[in-house]
Amino acid sequence: PPDVELLGRSSWTFIHSLCAKYPTQPSNEDKEQISSFFKMLGRMYPCDWCAKDFTKYLQENKLDNSSNEGLNMWLCGAHNAVNKKIGKKEFDCQLWKKRWKDGWD
Ligand code: FAD
Repeated sequence: PPDVELLGRSSWTFIHSLCAKYPTQPSNEDKEQISSFFKMLGRMYPCDWCAKDFTKYLQENKLDNSSNEGLNMWLCGAHNAVNKKIGKKEFDCQLWKKRWKDGWD
């Protein structure tokens, strides 16, 4: 893709915002659909080497679709794995809710 950085920044914004709204007590359908969404990303994310590594991450780190908190902590770990791989600072996962849901104080 022409701009992996812009694609990434925009994608993370969408993905974190989507997951921030995941239910506290998800239904079986919620669980299936969020799992499919991430599986789809691993297949179709429009940066081929990103998608390939993301699929590997999914295989090695089971998605937590059991709750809002669980999903967002899992997602933070997945994003941090990319940060680490490309030499960016890791994000403090305790802050996910401020960054993506409630806003800073
Ligand atoms: P981004 O990493 O885009 O983050 C945006 C904002 O999210 C940050 O400013 C911060 O406020 C917040 N944030 C950062 N880390 C976390 C976290 N762990 N949890 C919650 N919030 C956080 N780029 C590559 O070069 N190689 C790759 O293999 C690659 N794989 C990717 C795979 C996926 C699925 C996605 C969505 C993107 C991938 N990218 C990859 C793009 C890369 O992750 C960045 O999006 C891009 O480098 C731009 O970085 P950025 O500094 O703008 O911040």
